[in-house]
Amino acid sequence: MQLQTILHRVARNKSFVYGHPRWVEDAPRPTIEVPIRPRANGRPVCSGCRKPRPGYDRLHERRFEFVPLWQIAVVFVYALRRVNCPTCGVVVERVPWSDGKSRLTTAYQWFLAGWARRLSWHETARVFHTTWEHVRDSVRHAVRWGVVHRDLSGVEAIGVDEIQWRRGHHYLTLVYQIDAGCRRLLWIGRERTEATLRDGLELLGENFCSNLRFVCSDMWQSYLKVLAEQAGGAIHVLDRFHIMKQLGQAIDDVRASEVKRLKHDGYEPVLKHSRWCLLKRPENLTGQQTVRLDELLKYNLASVRAYLHREDFQRFWEYQSPAWAGKFLDEWCARVMRSRLQPMKKVARTLRTHRSLLLNWFRAKGEISAGIVEGFNNKAKLAMRKSYGFREFETIELALYHQLGNLPEPETTHRFC
Ligand SMILES: [Zn+2]
Repeated sequence: MQLQTILHRVARNKSFVYGHPRWVEDAPRPTIEVPIRPRANGRPVCSGCRKPRPGYDRLHERRFEFVPLWQIAVVFVYALRRVNCPTCGVVVERVPWSDGKSRLTTAYQWFLAGWARRLSWHETARVFHTTWEHVRDSVRHAVRWGVVHRDLSGVEAIGVDEIQWRRGHHYLTLVYQIDAGCRRLLWIGRERTEATLRDGLELLGENFCSNLRFVCSDMWQSYLKVLAEQAGGAIHVLDRFHIMKQLGQAIDDVRASEVKRLKHDGYEPVLKHSRWCLLKRPENLTGQQTVRLDELLKYNLASVRAYLHREDFQRFWEYQSPAWAGKFLDEWCARVMRSRLQPMKKVARTLRTHRSLLLNWFRAKGEISAGIVEGFNNKAKLAMRKSYGFREFETIELALYHQLGNLPEPETTHRFC
């Protein structure tokens, strides 16, 4: 079987013919070149209006890299024609294997993008003997196509979350779809300001916002404000993961200042290695950590009291009725306000301020699963770690859409990966 026959099967081009492949002798890696020529009776297609137009002239031969075969590079060689189009002027023709600008064929871009979802971009480049930039361009191509062709109808629940990016206080705002049947990343924006989220929701569209039944976020004021204004028809749920995270942070603050105080008073550093005991839920503690927690409980320490308040708060999520949950919340807040644990009191005050949004959790019960935002948050962090070294916003944006966007791909006659 000849290579042309195989190519004809996997990458059929109606108006073009594959010529005789040739082995390139002086190439740095094994390479096969496949010349392409237009069919004799075929008219070139204008890349502007996509209509067949009379030919104008031919440009120099160009090389387009195709999917490698047995680790042998496969390169198409073709001299693009220019057409004389009455609407678009003298422009280059449209060819089915390439967008005309990239040195990679579209098939190869989809191939690299597919692998870049499984491997890191650096690994993908290394395995397929290409550059990191080519992998990035391929992912960009896949993401752009996917975003244009994705279907946003039927989105009823979204989660809005921020994620730390780079060092210091740099954030990205992420909008997820969290419907039971479809969970994916919908949008990414720089920073976590009102303007950020407003841009995102405007881009997703007015229709999109009015169809929403549930929105889920943390207590970040800018998000609360914009969601109330743009998705006022939806039930706004405060996310459980973020509230428990705030309580964890408060315990950590109490512990840190207590360590300082104990040290100052000359006590042994009993709290020094206890951070994880206090932050973890009891069922997640290892054997050794449980022993340490028991030891800690012997002291009447502020850290331990903070820990017990947090444990107590877990009961909140188990209520069925908003009314009883509300009663519990009020009592819990009152107890914490009587304590002298400043960081915990701060959280209690915030919870009081957002009481009605918190109770919406029970109105949306069964519709929004508890771990969903946390799950996405972890996945996003993992995707960022995998793409270590991404400093440009566009790159991290591409990586996150590519990993979490669940973006569609075109139907092709042959899948290369
Ligand atoms: Zn045209």
